Amino acid sequence: SREIHLASRPHGWPTPENFRTVETELPDPGPDEVLVRNTFMSVDPYMRGRMNDVKSYVPPFALDAPLDGGAVGEVVASGSTDVRVGDTVLHQAGWRTHALLPARAVRRVDVSQVPASAYLGALGMPGMTAYVGLTRVAELKEGDTVFVSGAAGAVGSAVGQMARLLGASKVIGSAGSPEKCAWLTDELGFDVALDYKAAPIGRQLREHGPVDVYFDNVGGDHLEAAIFAMADFGRIAACGAIADYNADAPVPGPRNLMMMVSKRLTMRGFIVTDHGDATSEFYRRAGAWVADGSLTWRETVVDGLDHAVDAFLGLHRGDNTGKMLVRL
Ligand code: NDP
Repeated sequence: SREIHLASRPHGWPTPENFRTVETELPDPGPDEVLVRNTFMSVDPYMRGRMNDVKSYVPPFALDAPLDGGAVGEVVASGSTDVRVGDTVLHQAGWRTHALLPARAVRRVDVSQVPASAYLGALGMPGMTAYVGLTRVAELKEGDTVFVSGAAGAVGSAVGQMARLLGASKVIGSAGSPEKCAWLTDELGFDVALDYKAAPIGRQLREHGPVDVYFDNVGGDHLEAAIFAMADFGRIAACGAIADYNADAPVPGPRNLMMMVSKRLTMRGFIVTDHGDATSEFYRRAGAWVADGSLTWRETVVDGLDHAVDAFLGLHRGDNTGKMLVRL
């Protein structure tokens, strides 16, 4: 089997030299262990933060050890009575072709209605992030106008669709190409899609406000534009700031923070894993939306563990429409 290790910590944009592919022996599972052949692994923006040696809400990746992250696969050998050979499971030992895990560290997933990869996207962590961000953090209300940045990504595409399903009256998204914007309006039901590379986002958004809820995936210029476009008493769910993740020095903050005061805005940061109590509610509602076709998704699939680093870098360049995945 093969796995990807972190060879050195990147400064600014990671390069292939920061990673190393390592061959390992295929182990046999002991009692209550399972061996999983991974079929898809996720690459996610939060992994960039874990490559730095800084204290955060998840520990940094160790050097000379495999990276990890969400993955799905098939159990090929089992020392457990609960998890059987042939089961499809979700777990956190991505970035490798095979994973040896305690049976309690894998979750069996139902692949009768959706492909296993959905549990890394709309029916997984990104979908749950969209759901709790809207319902618990932004406290979305019927009739709200919602703006989401990074709208053609895994989280953002779910945010726009769920906002509408939860009663928003107008949904605005921003994304980095005309093709992505067309997907948002033509297939996902966004009312407005703004191509932030075509003209400054601040100038474009101004024509479509006021915004009651801003779901921030990007930070930087998008956050400043949103603060400018917010309605009085508007709420901002601070989910991520991908525009800053590969910067090698701190980036300037929004220049209009005083508007937080004059407009009486609320901005709340959140981490999806703090909202485990919403999991069953999320699966029930998202499962129903997927079943009736009102929640859909796209995947951008890169083939092979050898291209996992390319997929990770591509995610930060916007190569993905919808969820970025590596097929193993
Ligand atoms: P995406 O699928 O959205 O992929 C990242 C996208 O970011 C790219 O496709 C690209 O699209 C966009 N992007 C990259 N650079 C910039 C930039 N400078 N300005 C604007 N857009 C940019 O990733 P996810 O859906 O997995 O994650 C989205 C956000 O949610 C991230 O910030 C992530 O950290 C955050 N997150 C937070 C969680 C939490 O618990 N708080 C949990 C999960 C995710 P484009 O072509 O449009 O530029």
